[in-house]
Amino acid sequence: MDLVLATRSTHKIEEIQKILDIVPDLRVLDLTEVGVSYDPVEEDLEPYATFEENAASKAAHFRKITGLPTVADDSGIEIDLLGGAPGVRSKRFAPNQGLEGLAMDQANNEHLLESLGDAPFSERTGRYVCVAVLKWGDQGEPGGSANLGDPIVVRGEAAGIILHAPRGSGGFGYDPLFFDPDLGKSFAEITPEQKNARSHRGKAFRALAERLATASEDS
Ligand code: IMP
Repeated sequence: MDLVLATRSTHKIEEIQKILDIVPDLRVLDLTEVGVSYDPVEEDLEPYATFEENAASKAAHFRKITGLPTVADDSGIEIDLLGGAPGVRSKRFAPNQGLEGLAMDQANNEHLLESLGDAPFSERTGRYVCVAVLKWGDQGEPGGSANLGDPIVVRGEAAGIILHAPRGSGGFGYDPLFFDPDLGKSFAEITPEQKNARSHRGKAFRALAERLATASEDS
């Protein structure tokens, strides 16, 4: 089966392709490989208050364009002291608008540090969350007939503590501030393999891989 991975993030593509490698007879294609060039409407596909709704919205959008089974994820970081913020707004947490890539990550990290002030380590708890939705039927689409396959929805979480200053140069986004107490390191100080083994995205996509492997055994 060909499966479209609906993200423009090269970090996510690398992380997810490695995990889905374990599913037999599955070819994972990114948006460029299926010829879907960037469209500004993509910026408006995640307006919802939950990771589930945002991931489903992205998956439905690209499934409609490609006609292929499509998986999208929505992810973010929830900080307990901030009442679960920034959550689904993690990508645009910093007030500085219009930044992209590294500059955006840096502004977000600075804003997170400012928001937590000098709160002690024990109170800086939170988690990364990732929800992936696979759309492979025609449910919910105008003119859709048979229910070819219900969407698969999977969620993964990774608990951590926000450091008082960044550590490490790997990963992306909030990784230099995200301390894994079991490893005694930030997510920017571990190898991609270690991150995949412990991360929210690793857990969600391994659950998806298991569901797909079972589905291919049953068919
Ligand atoms: P989205 O899933 O593309 O909407 O991304 C949400 C945002 O959450 C990203 O831009 C990052 O700031 C943050 N994020 C999600 N996953 C990770 C991760 O694995 N490491 C660091 N930051 C992440």
